[in-house]
Amino acid sequence: MKFGGSSVADLERLRRVARRVVARAQERKVAVVVSAMGKTTNNLVAEACALLDPPPARELDMLMTTGERISMALLAIAIAAEGRTAISLTGSQCGIITNHQAGRARIVEVRPFRVEDEWAEGHVVIVGGFAGVSYKREVTTLGRGGSDTTAVALAAALGADCEIYSDVDGVYSGDPRELPAAQRIAALSYEEMQALSRAGAKVLHAQAVELAEERGIAIYARHSDPAIVGETVIRTNPARRSGVCAVTTDLVRDVEVALTADDPELRARLRGEAAEAGLLYLRCDRGGLSGLLSTRRTDASALARRFAGFAGVAGVARAAVSDERALVSCVGAGLEDRPELFREAEEALAAAGIAVEALLTDARTLSVLVDAGQRAAAAAALHARFIAGPPR
Ligand code: ADP
Ligand code: ASP
Ligand code: MG
Repeated sequence: MKFGGSSVADLERLRRVARRVVARAQERKVAVVVSAMGKTTNNLVAEACALLDPPPARELDMLMTTGERISMALLAIAIAAEGRTAISLTGSQCGIITNHQAGRARIVEVRPFRVEDEWAEGHVVIVGGFAGVSYKREVTTLGRGGSDTTAVALAAALGADCEIYSDVDGVYSGDPRELPAAQRIAALSYEEMQALSRAGAKVLHAQAVELAEERGIAIYARHSDPAIVGETVIRTNPARRSGVCAVTTDLVRDVEVALTADDPELRARLRGEAAEAGLLYLRCDRGGLSGLLSTRRTDASALARRFAGFAGVAGVARAAVSDERALVSCVGAGLEDRPELFREAEEALAAAGIAVEALLTDARTLSVLVDAGQRAAAAAALHARFIAGPPR
């Protein structure tokens, strides 16, 4: 069971989670993953950046992981208050081994012996999400929203399914906070959910979905309030359907580095930087490189400066990073076989008075780049056109 930041935002909510966990622990062994309380992680990042922007990545990781320590210990205490013993463990204590990439480490191995030992002692195990330890024994974090990934990785290592509890009762066809017409989706394939996460829907962490697919475990997305009973299951092969199933948005900056002439060495360097920065819709050729940088990432402004800094490098004709734009994406299955979707998307946006700067596509995603101020309007127009609109 994984409970996100909003579900443990204050003591009352922690007590509610504790009661739910204790009830479940009567039936079976339970491992609980928790995020930091409420906006704790954001506040920690803001404090670090107020001192130095960007902060040293290692120290930022050290700082950010304190948020989960607080919530895991408080939850263990809240469970004790309910008369049941629980023990809290950090990611490193329960064997979450990652690579060495500070700020967005990837899990390479999970050795959950400690969890099993504590279960054998009759304890409920509480794990602080989002953090691991690298082979070099450094504390690492898994990227913002990474507690979902901790939960899936632990579930896989323990041979369990994974329940993700948050402030929404499943995955919707759009962010229900921004799109009142959004509908809950009963079941999604791993591929669809991955495309949705990558395109900016923060309801589930992309690496969590990737890992769930790799290990063949189901994810159940539910509301942390037991009175709200809906859910979405993410698993292999839900009833096949093609077409757009959800619309989501992200804020991005367009990155472009043009070379004066083909220069394989410089190209390789750019490619390396782009891969490290995780640019979306990356294109690298003899003329240079282009791609989109999601600005919701902690290190986005530092990365933007790094790409803009190529302007001074010999062999570079132009290096530009645009202002913030909205990337609005329609996600689904079989989009590559539906060329009419492009036209329909453009028509729907034109009818709403929204200019499209670029259209980008892959097998599961059709995205448009629009003015940042039109993010919500564009999402609503595409959602109405493809999902919840009047019959066509
Ligand atoms: P937690 O803090 O529990 O990890 P998050 O805030 O990361 O929860 O994720 C839940 C939020 O994701 C919801 O409050 C909702 O606003 C947002 N969200 C964005 N896109 C979607 C979507 N397609 N379906 C459901 N929720 C979405
Ligand atoms: N607390 C971390 C974050 O805010 C991890 C998580 O919430 O999943 O990104
Ligand atoms: Mg989350």
